[in-house]
Amino acid sequence: MMQLYNSATRKKEEFKTHTPGHVEMYTCGPTVYHFAHIGNLRSYIMEDVLEKTLRYTGYDVNRVMNITDVGHLTSDADEGEDKMLKGAKRENKSVMDIAKFYTDAFFSDCEKLNIKVPDVVQPATGLIDDFIHMVEGLIEKEFAYFAGGNVYFDTSKLNRYYVFNDHNEEDLAVGVREGVEEDTNKRNKNDFVLWFTKSKFEDQALKWDSPWGVGYPGWHIECSGISLKYNGEYLDLHCGGIDNAFPHHTNEIAQTESFVGHEWCKQWFHVHHLNTNSGKMSKSKGEFLTVSLLEEKGYDPLVYRMFCLQSHYRKGLVFSWENLDNAVGTFNKLIGRIANLKPGDDVDQAVFDELKAKFVAALENDLNTAQAMTAVYDVLKAKTTDATKLAVLADYDYVLSLDLLAKAEAKRQENAKAAAAKKSEGGYTIVGEGDPAIDALVMQRYEAKKAKNFAEADRIRDELKAQGIEITDVAGGAQWKKI
Ligand SMILES: [Zn+2]
Repeated sequence: MMQLYNSATRKKEEFKTHTPGHVEMYTCGPTVYHFAHIGNLRSYIMEDVLEKTLRYTGYDVNRVMNITDVGHLTSDADEGEDKMLKGAKRENKSVMDIAKFYTDAFFSDCEKLNIKVPDVVQPATGLIDDFIHMVEGLIEKEFAYFAGGNVYFDTSKLNRYYVFNDHNEEDLAVGVREGVEEDTNKRNKNDFVLWFTKSKFEDQALKWDSPWGVGYPGWHIECSGISLKYNGEYLDLHCGGIDNAFPHHTNEIAQTESFVGHEWCKQWFHVHHLNTNSGKMSKSKGEFLTVSLLEEKGYDPLVYRMFCLQSHYRKGLVFSWENLDNAVGTFNKLIGRIANLKPGDDVDQAVFDELKAKFVAALENDLNTAQAMTAVYDVLKAKTTDATKLAVLADYDYVLSLDLLAKAEAKRQENAKAAAAKKSEGGYTIVGEGDPAIDALVMQRYEAKKAKNFAEADRIRDELKAQGIEITDVAGGAQWKKI
């Protein structure tokens, strides 16, 4: 059985679902006014591993994700700037063009990292009526009030508000207020806006009609509304970066449970930060690392995926180029070892089952991906046929998604080509690109030179040159390459 740490209870517990065998899963999606940085993508990689582990161990999963395409939905504070509008102004595009561009960029990054696209992806702007309906319901049930033009959630109506931490209220309240101008319309310090009609933003880009006037939804209502629509009233697993635990997830719980009138989601999965040596990676700091930047520097994005898998999702992970280089070395060695396995059809089912059980045990131990990676090496060391090892690795790769077998096959072909590229005859070694016709001409030139027929040797050199081949004489032979 899957044992998973639950942020809501602060302990590792057996994963249970409302409907046996079926998981309703929700993930907080990206805000699409800029590229995702690799710290954000760490969360999506680990959530992808979680989803695939659930499917791999027999669950049927419905996974839902929002796209935050309403710019101000990134903070409780009704101040500062509209990030979507800022992005649009920066790039001279409309807000919706910006959203489309960065949504596509996000999914392109996901594809490069072998992150599966969730079953349902819903942009927030597409479900405004549902959010309005939910706010109306909360007002009706007296969990919300109208003040100063905005609708607020009344946290004093809750039995319990601080779900994810043991901090005392005063400490957290300071955090909430930090840098935020006090909103005098609020009845309680933790109350949050469900619907804005009075904004401090200038020229708000996206506005909708509502029973409270023209405005836009608060930050948290988006995820509750989208999840209720596509996951139903009982959510089994809610995922996100640890940053989202407070206040975002805390407020999601408050408004959703007040709206549906019962417990909403039992299991909360939070992925911890990716740090650099100078601290937490963020968009506002100088170090803005994207998948494209990794590629520009010659890194395979899947090496970054493996780098993430090597550590536990509940620990901070330190990114440095040196650490990534180490991961490159590990990855190449691993692929090299798999490439040395000989494909065949003598799979030993008993050994296969035993190795699979080991892998499942690692994943079911609070998604211990580092241990799951160790299981890969256990497969390579196992006393069994190469065919069994390859079959097990192909099976593991459903979850790991590192393209282990495809990369090993490419490596095998590369090795074969390198072997074919070297041809030795009578103590003369030709190193080329594996073309027998060219090798034969190079050999003829050598024979001509040996016979002191330099005119013929030069003629062959010219003939090769005409074919775009350059020969270099080296000790004990010659090298050729296409130019
Ligand atoms: Zn969310």
